[in-house]
Amino acid sequence: MKAIQYRTIGSPPEVVEVPVPEPGPGQVLLKVTAAGLCHSDLAVMSWPEEQFPYPLPMTLGHEGVGTVAALGSGATGVAEGDEVAVYGPWGCGRCRTCAEGRENCCPHAAGLGIMPPGLGSPGALAEYMVVDSPRHLVPLNGLDPVQAAPLTDAGLTPYHAIRASLPKLVPGSTAVVIGVGGLGHIAVQLLRALTPARVVALDVSKEKLELALTVGAHEALVSDGEAAARVRELTGGVGAEVVLDFVGAGATLAVAAASVATAGDVTVVGIGGGTLAVGFGGGLPFEVSASAPYWGSRSELIDVVELARQGLVSSHVETFSIEDAPLAYERLHAGKINGRAVVLP
Ligand code: NAD
Ligand code: ZN
Repeated sequence: MKAIQYRTIGSPPEVVEVPVPEPGPGQVLLKVTAAGLCHSDLAVMSWPEEQFPYPLPMTLGHEGVGTVAALGSGATGVAEGDEVAVYGPWGCGRCRTCAEGRENCCPHAAGLGIMPPGLGSPGALAEYMVVDSPRHLVPLNGLDPVQAAPLTDAGLTPYHAIRASLPKLVPGSTAVVIGVGGLGHIAVQLLRALTPARVVALDVSKEKLELALTVGAHEALVSDGEAAARVRELTGGVGAEVVLDFVGAGATLAVAAASVATAGDVTVVGIGGGTLAVGFGGGLPFEVSASAPYWGSRSELIDVVELARQGLVSSHVETFSIEDAPLAYERLHAGKINGRAVVLP
């Protein structure tokens, strides 16, 4: 079968021919129908050799949707032909945190060598993929697979981030979304679907600001040195109750710190290499909470799929064949993907 692998540190991903994997005991084999490309893949492929945490070659793709093709011995709960989305941040499945469905926070996964598909384990950018357990599979219930693929990360991650701030997003409040790419364009829709907040989107690209308005942002502002002042102006000097940074660079974190209201939330989702100083004298208003959430829980993925089924959230996608996946990564790197790039293996 064809797969997209990262094989050599510093080289672009390659289209390769590999054997179709076989599901081991308890595992499930999926025929992949759609796989999303995430900016995190580009971050991973920029890490130097001494920091690189995963075995190579590595089949990429941590946003996967597929049809159940075979069950390993003892695997139950799904049947051949079922259409499912893959929950990616696999945990040990046994501890208290995993029992709550918060496998993204499992404290044992790393120690046990459990790694997400596409981020250590063979991922979804292939014709077939093996999923460790049926519990990682969420039924699509009729949702279009191409729509569904981005939900597994670009939908789930902002949903998890936004849920933590819901008590602050009361009528009259403002939420700022910095970076309206794969995650950000779904974040805007989630904020509109879940809260009465005014949504202000910031980006550096005109096309992305247009997409932000199309998917429901009330305001779309160029993300530059003036952006925080404009957010203050829009909020009568108060600032935004919640700022979600889907870039996470030094420059955007400075905008976030200068835009947030007293007692607001700054939520850093992007892994752009910037850090935020917390502490008196660090530049944040009093009582601000700062967090760096990771992916989301199993139940939250079920919620996001349901929101999409109800038409409250949809993925703006550009599709590619598996042979063109390296090109899609190039376009993502160049900032040319509007919404999410989805590969149809
Ligand atoms: P993307 O490339 O699709 O979108 C990034 C967007 O940010 C683009 O629209 C780009 O124009 C915009 N941007 C770039 N510089 C900007 C600036 N200075 N100000 C405002 N906007 C700017 O990326 P994505 O796949 O949506 O991922 C977003 C970030 O989230 C990445 O850093 C990714 O690695 C990270 N991520 C984190 C998690 C997590 O669990 N924390 C999960 C998935 C992705
Ligand atoms: Zn991702």
